[in-house]
Amino acid sequence: MINPKKFAILGDIHANLEALEAVLEDCRERNVTDYACVGDVVGYNANPSECLEIIRELKCVVVRGNHDHYSSHGESLWDFHALAADVLDWTRHRLTDEQVEYLRNLRMSRMLAGFTLVHSTLDMPEKWGYVFEELEAAANFNYQSTGVCFHGHTHIPAVFERDGRVTRSTPIKLNVTLGKKYFINVGSVGQPRDGNPLASYVTYDMGRKEVEFRRIQYDIEKTQEKIRGAGLPEMLASRLAAGK
Ligand code: ZN
Repeated sequence: MINPKKFAILGDIHANLEALEAVLEDCRERNVTDYACVGDVVGYNANPSECLEIIRELKCVVVRGNHDHYSSHGESLWDFHALAADVLDWTRHRLTDEQVEYLRNLRMSRMLAGFTLVHSTLDMPEKWGYVFEELEAAANFNYQSTGVCFHGHTHIPAVFERDGRVTRSTPIKLNVTLGKKYFINVGSVGQPRDGNPLASYVTYDMGRKEVEFRRIQYDIEKTQEKIRGAGLPEMLASRLAAGK
């Protein structure tokens, strides 16, 4: 029987409510049935509490990102940029105790029927390593037991494919082939960094075995106004228009 499920995999939402709402509207238009998230629901932008509530209402399967971690654990922020640390402190004060508890209990990785979710890498998820290139993806594959694993963290959409050797590409659509392994970065909903300011996410049609990268327009100016209104650093507003 054909698997009728069509997943939307979202990542690095980063408290950007306008981007998240626009993405979810696109999901509904594309008949998405299930939702998953590779982490970093909060941090950087101005609506952490609102974004977290929406994600929870969707019954979305979520794994822990570094911003989710540091905004819910009382640890020092020594390994963060000063700018990110300031925003995390601001974020903590916007979340309810119950929301903090939810973030604190998120798992580092999750295996669903047919694919895995992780924020950074499966080999050492607690190190929050960045995968930009083939070599950095190679170690992950040794720990990946499903054909497909979705991740985020760099905010740059990409497909790393292992078929003997590891290659990197940035397709619009990808047909998943049995026997190959794919480590797929879904890009960022709330703060894209590949030079394209449009919100990024992917759909995974389980029946067709097809992954599609989507880029969605949203009201960037409104998000920027909220960032400025909240007294968050100006750079967080300006970078959204530049997509980096
Ligand atoms: Zn992030």
